Amino acid sequence: MKRINPTIAAERKYSIEKEKEIPISSYFGEDTFNYRVMEDKLPKDVFKKVLSIIESNGYLDLETANIVAHAMKEWALEKGATHFAHWFQPMTGVTAEKHDAFIEPIGRDEVIERFSGKQLAQGEPDASSFPSGGIRATFEARGYTVWDVTSPAFIRRNGIATTLCIPTAFISYTGEALDKKTPLLRSIKAVSDSAVRMLKLLGNGPVTKVFATLGPEQEYFCIDMDYYYKRQDLVLTGRTLIGAPPAKGQELEDQYFGSIRERIQSFMHDVEEELYKLGVPAKTRHNEVAPSQFEIAPVFEEANVASDHNQIVMDTMKSVGRNHHLAVLLAEKPFAGINGSGKHLNWSLSDSDGNNLLNPGDTPHENIKFLVFLTATIKAVYRHADILRASVATSGNDHRLGANEAPPAIISVFLGDQLTKILDDIEKGKATAATDKAIIDLGISVLPVLSKDNTDRNRTSPFAFTGNKFEFRAVGSNQSISFSATVLNTIVAEALDEIYDKIKGKGSDVNKAVMEVIRQEISEFKPVLFNGDNYTKEWEEEAAKRKLPNHKTSVEALPSLDTEKAKGLFEKYKVLSPVELKSRYHIRLERYAKDIDIEAKALSNMVTSQIIPAALRFQGEMAKSLKDTAKVLGDADLAPQKKLLGTLCGLIGAIETSVEELKTAQEKGIGMHDELEKAKYCNDTLKPLMLKVRQSVDELEPLVCDELWPIPKFWEMLFIC
Ligand code: ADP
Ligand code: MG
Repeated sequence: MKRINPTIAAERKYSIEKEKEIPISSYFGEDTFNYRVMEDKLPKDVFKKVLSIIESNGYLDLETANIVAHAMKEWALEKGATHFAHWFQPMTGVTAEKHDAFIEPIGRDEVIERFSGKQLAQGEPDASSFPSGGIRATFEARGYTVWDVTSPAFIRRNGIATTLCIPTAFISYTGEALDKKTPLLRSIKAVSDSAVRMLKLLGNGPVTKVFATLGPEQEYFCIDMDYYYKRQDLVLTGRTLIGAPPAKGQELEDQYFGSIRERIQSFMHDVEEELYKLGVPAKTRHNEVAPSQFEIAPVFEEANVASDHNQIVMDTMKSVGRNHHLAVLLAEKPFAGINGSGKHLNWSLSDSDGNNLLNPGDTPHENIKFLVFLTATIKAVYRHADILRASVATSGNDHRLGANEAPPAIISVFLGDQLTKILDDIEKGKATAATDKAIIDLGISVLPVLSKDNTDRNRTSPFAFTGNKFEFRAVGSNQSISFSATVLNTIVAEALDEIYDKIKGKGSDVNKAVMEVIRQEISEFKPVLFNGDNYTKEWEEEAAKRKLPNHKTSVEALPSLDTEKAKGLFEKYKVLSPVELKSRYHIRLERYAKDIDIEAKALSNMVTSQIIPAALRFQGEMAKSLKDTAKVLGDADLAPQKKLLGTLCGLIGAIETSVEELKTAQEKGIGMHDELEKAKYCNDTLKPLMLKVRQSVDELEPLVCDELWPIPKFWEMLFIC
């Protein structure tokens, strides 16, 4: 194979002539069937009805559905759509869609465009090939999709095809959730109910609904497509399985927040333009720490929409990337030795008037509210750290968590100095002393006045309070955010209810009762609070003393989804039935094993069909050259060169032996049917063998003539773009 000429990649530019830029506000959301469009296209009473259905999770009658469907179709046709698709999120982690044309035959030779309320509201994809984790086997049911009225339908353009996409939930005929959206919607309701009840107790009567809000910060890598297609590992597994570290990595810190290269900025521009049309408020873009690594962060939104939008962001980046001849890598750790990508999931709760419940307020009354919600969140994370950890357990994320660049697998909470001191004082029953800056005791009670403290930042914490929201930093870049959000909503609902009951049990002075309960809670959840450096060995030891779980790998983490505690939690809040939870546990274990199996095969294939042949060719050339040289020069000292040849020969042998070992081990694993056993086998046996192969290959790479090396190297992929 010929090496790629680097200048081609370096000089590739994307510059189609653009007419003058138009302001984002003038086209934001133009490809979504949003409130504005509905108000415009629907009869007033129907529009009102739809709004109330969205607000109250109400029932959509067929007559209303028919009117909405008609308006939606007319609008979609104006946009050039020929097809509609129920867009859903099966448990594969990516989105799925099945397209149908808007046509209905009338008579023999003619069709008309038609879209009925029934087609809008419900679909029946023959989706029996999606993973169900045993649900279908148990219930013999096919799945169907149901319109999610809370997330706007949108237009998706793909090449010359235009499709109306309708966000839907995917459910079995017996009512089990087969997707990631349904549990999220249920958890949103659970946390809303519990929060509303709590707010009432605290004297916020009129609040009728509370929204979970999410702001995912998406990290990713971008490399030239030529390099991507030359690497089987990237194409098939999303990450490189071999490759020696480049001479320069990220040590000069010259990439982070640096000026964005023209080619990348054009790409970002086009991604954002697409996203704005789809109503995704993509606000922030910047270079990340590693070479060729970037971030895109939309403004936070209501959880369900934010979760859909994150899927749209990932899809859009990949498809726009293709137009720019760029491969967008979402894998958590595409390059060993180089920083990985995560998805900081910012999470908060907001009442129906838009007040952020995790915003420290200006008055003691507001602060009591803040303290209750803060306490509930910390309590929840302390109790269910294991489930939260399991929610981010994937084979890809195993390479990132705890690698001194991402939070460790120990889930702790960072609060910053100010809040820590306040909680400390509350626990000790002390009135908070006034400081020059933020904390002033009004003297009315022990309630401190808090202020936002944005200066406190701890990048090593997996769950950090950052001023007015929590930031869960362990989510993988490639993952759907919906399960982590589902877990957060559910565990906080439970904590709020428990705190509610305790306050209720303490008599009529609510404020006093609240402070007492908070004091108790603090003394219980204290072990989870940690403001120090999460990367140190000392913290690992300290966390063990505090009995915080430390599930370093997915196979250690995932069984936390299979405990009585988890079952009880999700069942109580009607988020996941025991069967639904079990199915997710099985699917995730199975997926973990499959991922590693595919990686092991891709690695063997690359090594045997590309690396070893190249190395042998070079070995042959060297041997011949040595022989010829000896013939010509006779007495020349060829010892150093012979040594090099010996090293080369030794490495090739080591690679061959270890690949054989890996293949044999893989065959052994074929017969394993228990998912946990198989996943463990992959983790404990296959992964170390893969690493062994890799080590020799990476050692070999710099020894072999560059022209003969058959795949793009790290320095090329990361620096030529
Ligand atoms: P960074 O982590 O890059 O320093 P921030 O911590 O300010 O930046 O995070 C910004 C992210 O937090 C954005 O995605 C933003 O939408 C999100 N965010 C801000 N407020 C909230 C909130 N109330 N709920 C959820 N996400 C929020
Ligand atoms: Mg952040």
